[in-house]
Amino acid sequence: MSTWLITGASSGLGRALAEHVLNAGHNLVATARNTDSVDDLVNAYPDTALTTILDVTERASIDAAVTAAQERFGGIDVIVNNAGYGYTGAVEEGENDAVARLFATNFFGPVDLIKAALPGMRDRGTGTIINVSSVGARVPIPGGGYYAAAKAAIEGLSGSLRQEVEPLGLRVMVIEPGSMRTEFRGRSADHADTQLEAYDKVLGRTGDKALGPQRGDPAKAAAAIVRAVEDPEPPGLLLLGTDALGGFHAATRAATGDVEQFEHLTRSTDATL
Ligand code: NDP
Repeated sequence: MSTWLITGASSGLGRALAEHVLNAGHNLVATARNTDSVDDLVNAYPDTALTTILDVTERASIDAAVTAAQERFGGIDVIVNNAGYGYTGAVEEGENDAVARLFATNFFGPVDLIKAALPGMRDRGTGTIINVSSVGARVPIPGGGYYAAAKAAIEGLSGSLRQEVEPLGLRVMVIEPGSMRTEFRGRSADHADTQLEAYDKVLGRTGDKALGPQRGDPAKAAAAIVRAVEDPEPPGLLLLGTDALGGFHAATRAATGDVEQFEHLTRSTDATL
């Protein structure tokens, strides 16, 4: 039995993961901005579920949740930085205050939780940090630049963090889901208020471009995450869904093609020894 702490457990992937973790017999700190959405988990699993209010943009609520987890379960084995949302708009349309909020939730909040959880994990010499990114960080689409940037930021940080904490016995895993059937495109979605006609066509606002289907099943995604964490050699990167897999390979091929085509220029810039 291990102890998990999940942010954004009110809906979508976070909710599905919360149910899966409890069903598998683990302890869970199910956190949400409004705990009414997770109270039923405590009723169903009174001995192993704890709920706390956690808004990832409020450092005090992060610290309180980590303390509550320590007191109730003696420490946290797995933190899941799941809370997040998307923001749509061309780069030129993006509003700085909305983009700052996006980064507060998708990047700075997860960083604060990592920093709050690390002392306990380091003391115990064990722990897994899961950062839910998006395949969109790797395969950006028109209108998704700020979201891709926020997710790419947490991925960049995760790479260094992994190398810093692995010698201490800790693990870091990045999850890149494809499109999943959650509130991501529904009530959670944010959009730039500014809409410049110049970008209507490329962003699909003229009705001639549809978003792809939401293939991903959050319950199956949750099961895959738990299996990955429990693997004796867990991955540093886990893609979720065949759309994520296709995007990953296409992006990798495109990047490799550019690198190989211009390798002569790349090699031309070293100083003469
Ligand atoms: P949902 O909209 O269903 O869930 C998002 C969760 O994040 C909700 O619980 C929401 O809480 C929470 N949240 C938002 N802001 C905050 C905040 N400031 N503090 C705490 N919680 C917050 O979408 P998903 O389940 O799909 O999203 C889960 C993760 O998956 C996100 O990081 C998302 O970016 C990522 N993702 C999703 C994809 C998809 O297609 N669904 C694709 C790729 C990545 P509340 O109920 O209070 O609003």
